[in-house]
This record gives sequence, C-alpha cells and structure tokens, in this order.
Amino acid sequence: MKHYDYIFAGAGLASLMTAYKMAMSGKFAGHSILLIDPDAKKDNDRTWCFWQKGMGNWDGIVHREWGTALFANEQWRADLNFGGYSYKMVRGIDFYDLVLKELQQHPNIEFVDQKVIDFKDPGIQVSVATGTENYTCDFLFNSIYDPELPASQNKYPVLRQHFIGWHVKTEKPVFDPECPTFMDFSIPQTGNTRFMYVLPFSEKEAIVEYTLFSKDLLPAEEYERAIEDYLNNLGASGYSVIAEEKGSIPMTSYPFWKNNSKKILNIGSAGGWTKASTGYTFRNADKLSGRLVEFMLLQEPDMRQFHKTSRFWLYDLLLLDILAKKNHEGAGIFSSMFKKAKAAPVFKFLDEETSFAEDLKVIWQCPKGLFLKALLGRIFKV
Ligand SMILES: Cc1cc2nc3c(=O)[nH]c(=O)nc-3n(C[C@H](O)[C@H](O)[C@H](O)COP(=O)(O)OP(=O)(O)OC[C@H]3O[C@@H](n4cnc5c(N)ncnc54)[C@H](O)[C@@H]3O)c2cc1C
Repeated sequence: MKHYDYIFAGAGLASLMTAYKMAMSGKFAGHSILLIDPDAKKDNDRTWCFWQKGMGNWDGIVHREWGTALFANEQWRADLNFGGYSYKMVRGIDFYDLVLKELQQHPNIEFVDQKVIDFKDPGIQVSVATGTENYTCDFLFNSIYDPELPASQNKYPVLRQHFIGWHVKTEKPVFDPECPTFMDFSIPQTGNTRFMYVLPFSEKEAIVEYTLFSKDLLPAEEYERAIEDYLNNLGASGYSVIAEEKGSIPMTSYPFWKNNSKKILNIGSAGGWTKASTGYTFRNADKLSGRLVEFMLLQEPDMRQFHKTSRFWLYDLLLLDILAKKNHEGAGIFSSMFKKAKAAPVFKFLDEETSFAEDLKVIWQCPKGLFLKALLGRIFKV
C-alpha cells in the first residue's frame, strides 16, 4: 500500500489552492503529496467572482474586473459605490491551467484520476480507499462534499444558492460592459429570494444567471424561462447561447468542522469554507488555504485545532433562519443592506473583516424585527 505525507481527496478549488500554495512556499519539497480526483479539470466548468481591495494572489488570471455594479429591486436601482473594492472574475479553466501547470513541475506531487470511496482516521495513519487502490497518509484533506451530513440534522437550516447561467451573445447592444448586475430583485419573487446576476463583457456579450437562495432546486426550464424573459425585457430580441453553467452551492451554518479529526481536515465547501449567507467561497478558500499551509508547518499539527468560530457564524445563522422560514424576505434584507448604495462596508462585513462597531452599522440597516425574532428563536428555541 503506497504511503503519502499528504493526500487530497478531491482536487477542485480548495485542494488546488492549498497544494499550489504548498508548492510555491518551497517548504514541502521533501514531502510526498497525492491528489485524487476523477475530473482532469480540462473544462471551463465555473466562473468565480469575488470582491477585493487592491492586489490579490490571483490577479495574473483575473479575466475581467469591475469598479461598480448595479443593485436593483422593484422600487429602486443604484450603481453601487465600491469604495476602492474591485469585483474580480476568474475563469475556472484559467485557474486549473495555472495551478496544474505549476504542480506538474514538482516531482513530489502526484495525481491519480480515481474516485475516493472511503477514508478513515483510526489514529496512527489515515487510510484512503478508491475504486481501484488503497493508500495511507499522515494527513488527509477532504473536499468531497457530502450533502447527507447537513441534511441529516435539523438544527441548522440548509439552503442553496442555485442557478443556471447562460453566456450569451446578443444582436443588439443591451449590456453595459463597465457595470455588472450584482443582484437584480426586480424580477418576480414568487415567494422566494430570486435575483438576476449579469457579468458583461461587451455591449453584446454577457453571462446572465437566474439565481435563488432557497431550499429546493427548480426544473431547468424555470431558470431558462426566467433568463429568456430577462433578456427580452432588456431588449435583446435575438441572441445565441454560447455556454451554460449551473450550480447548487450549500448555504448553511452546519458545523462541518466537527467532522474533522486529528489527521483529517475537511476543506472547501465540505469544510464549511463557503460563506453561509451568500454561497461565495473563492475568497474564503484563498484566505483559509494560506492559513492552512502555515498551520501545517507547526510541530505536530492537530487538524481539530484549525477551525475558528467567530461571531459572523451567528450572523449567517440568523439570516439563514429567517430565509428558511420566510424565503420571500431575501429581497428586502439585501436591499436594506445596499440601500445607501455604499457597497464597501457590506463587502467588508461579508468578508468578516469588520470591527464589532462596523458590524452593528451594517446590521442596523437590516429589518431589525426579523433579526431580533431570529435571535430570540435561537436563544429560547421558540
Ligand atoms: C458554476 C459555479 C459557479 C460558482 N461561482 C462562484 C463565484 O462566483 N464566487 C465564489 O466565491 N464561489 C462560486 N462558486 C462556489 C465555489 O467557489 C465553488 O463551488 C468551488 O469550486 C468550491 O470549491 P471546493 O474545493 O469546495 O469544491 P470543488 O471545486 O467542487 O472541488 C471538489 C472536487 O472533488 C471532486 N470529487 C467529487 N467526488 C469525488 C470522489 N468521490 N473522489 C474524488 N474526487 C471527487 C470533484 O471532481 C471536484 O474536483 C461557484 C460554484 C459553481 C458550481
């Protein structure tokens, strides 16, 4: 049975970022690393966006960057003042190409295209079974998301950010290439939190996504019809769809980290790295993968010590408690956050980088009754 110092079960965003940073640090050259994933990452399977102030680790592969975005609901529309933030977009394929090209230069890093079917931490070494082979390792990083884990409890609601996006080319100029649409809640809410999201590349080309924050997925036709309606309302009478992407990203405060053991760390969405209130994961993965590389350099790291719970976990939980019971409230809550069109304090808050006083300023803008009720509900379990 082959032994490795580190095994990554799944080699998507979180694993590749971590392995890349390990390789670039130069501090793991004497350690054997195996990444196991049946997907060779040859497709542009997702488009990652995130906001950031100033320069970042992935600027070399940022495909587009915007300095403002539209927020809209039925009553008002505003170009958000980003206050120094940029909204950056990275294409999945550019990230995979960059990282895989680098990792291939490191003889201590291997890949196998196998499917992990089991892993265990009996205390001394972790065992990993794939359909065809068994391995052991000192530390396992697991990013294979198991939806059964959050679904098997009812203490923490489980919503999803689910969407279908069409990359379209229109005959007429209907997009503003300088201004993406961050959230457009002016579309029918039908009892849910539903919005349009647009990433424009030119006046005639954009990715247009119909997105929900809710528990249940819709039939594909419903997302598609909503995109068609939106494009028609924009006046794009003729268009072609050149690519499609879809996603169902977990939104939950379920404590994934409780499944970590001394030698197994769950990472990525499987480790709770997805921001529960928004579904955004890229920035958290960037921050946490960097911290993880430092953490592994400690003497005898214990993976149960990696996670740190903060007050932001509670804020997310309260929002999800509200949306789980009153899914139609999402438009109002996000509108109140962005009412003054100042995005910077909200971005900082969602990035969990605000002081307590700054938290209160953002929270104060939100419907207080709803959050107070959710808080009392948690305290008294009403
Ligand atoms: C279409 C789409 C768009 C998104 N856009 C954004 C965005 O704009 N901004 C943002 O912040 N987040 C976004 N996200 C959310 C999040 O960033 C991604 O889902 C991200 O890829 C999560 O990283 P991960 O490492 O947890 O999972 P993944 O990147 O999905 O990696 C998990 C890996 O595990 C592999 N795997 C699964 N089962 C097995 C098995 N049994 N054995 C071995 N390997 C296995 C998979 O092939 C995959 O490569 C988006 C997600 C999707 C799907």
